[in-house]
Amino acid sequence: MIISHKIRLDPSNKQATYLAKAAGTARFAYNWALAEWQTQYAAWKDDNSQPKPNQMGLRRQLNAIKRDQFPWMLEVTKNAPQMAIIQLGQAFNNFFAGRAQYPQFKKKGKSRDSFTLTNDQFSLDDCRIRIPNLGLVRMRETLRFSGKILSATISRTADQWFASITVDTTSNHLPPAENQGAVGVDLGVSALATLSTGEKVIGAKPHKALLSRLQRLSRSLSRKIKGSANRHKAKQKLATLHARIANIRQDSLHQLTTNLTRRFHTIGIEDLNVSGMVKNRYLSRAISDMGFFEFRRQLEYKAGMRGAVVVVADRFFASSKTCSAPGCGHKVDKLPLSIREWTCPVCGAVHDRDINAANNLEKYAVSSTVSACEGEGAGLGRKPKTKPAPMKQEFNRKLDLG
Ligand SMILES: [Zn+2]
Repeated sequence: MIISHKIRLDPSNKQATYLAKAAGTARFAYNWALAEWQTQYAAWKDDNSQPKPNQMGLRRQLNAIKRDQFPWMLEVTKNAPQMAIIQLGQAFNNFFAGRAQYPQFKKKGKSRDSFTLTNDQFSLDDCRIRIPNLGLVRMRETLRFSGKILSATISRTADQWFASITVDTTSNHLPPAENQGAVGVDLGVSALATLSTGEKVIGAKPHKALLSRLQRLSRSLSRKIKGSANRHKAKQKLATLHARIANIRQDSLHQLTTNLTRRFHTIGIEDLNVSGMVKNRYLSRAISDMGFFEFRRQLEYKAGMRGAVVVVADRFFASSKTCSAPGCGHKVDKLPLSIREWTCPVCGAVHDRDINAANNLEKYAVSSTVSACEGEGAGLGRKPKTKPAPMKQEFNRKLDLG
């Protein structure tokens, strides 16, 4: 499994300047190669005897001229321009395969500042990362995964620098789930999540003071004159605050998904991608901000590492409106979101709205694991599946763990 760990860096001022310079060089090389690509492509279209552009040719071309034309490029790691052009080649591959838009030029201040290092161009020394021409930069934590290190992408969010280190973990190295059986998870209207065990997970909320500061800063930004130094400063402040709030939310999602996959080997959740469109604005901020997709992504890869299974309920599954009392299963016609507690008209059971939904999701997960695995002879209570099958490739491609 290919997985990334994003770690905050603590560069000195001098090191931060270098990082910014390397990111600037990467952006320049990307834009240079994109312009060259377009020129060469036009020439090839006019006259097919001309070579068609490709990333390898462009890298050679840049190497041949950079000493004369862009000598400042030599001040940073050679990976910065090289990897940028390789990434441009990937962007074109994605475009030709219909997976992405035509590559765009990167704008200073608009596009994310970043550059990538191949594994021969950096090394890790516990809490530090060594980068050529720069030396050791302090990291806030050590790498969480073991395995073959593939690459590192250094990027900036607001005024903070991060290294996202990609590792190939060939074996599952997390201990298996505690095997408390199955659980259903109803994602939150009133709480971050409600479990079928009856637990309500509130999740860390950014302090009110942070949120009111956010409002104040946005207002103050809108009053500043465009292009002024004060506007730039206000923008920086706002971006830093946004990043801080996003981190708090991301952190509670991580805690929730770690807790679930540590304890249960079958986890039933709702498909909110489609049916959640309406419900989405009621979801807790942590999930609506990060997106249901992020919750599912974390849950599926962590489950994969512990040999647990995530079952996503069909989007027509009425988790809230169905009575979860044993042997009942009555479905009510309407259940407005304002109703937090209701009584089943058939069996008389009194339900907490969220716990009832979580119970139904648990039942759904259990029944579909049994039927889905029958053919393979691995029903519930037997050997858990090691991989979550749906969308596996998508989730395995690139994983950032904040
Ligand atoms: Zn009932």
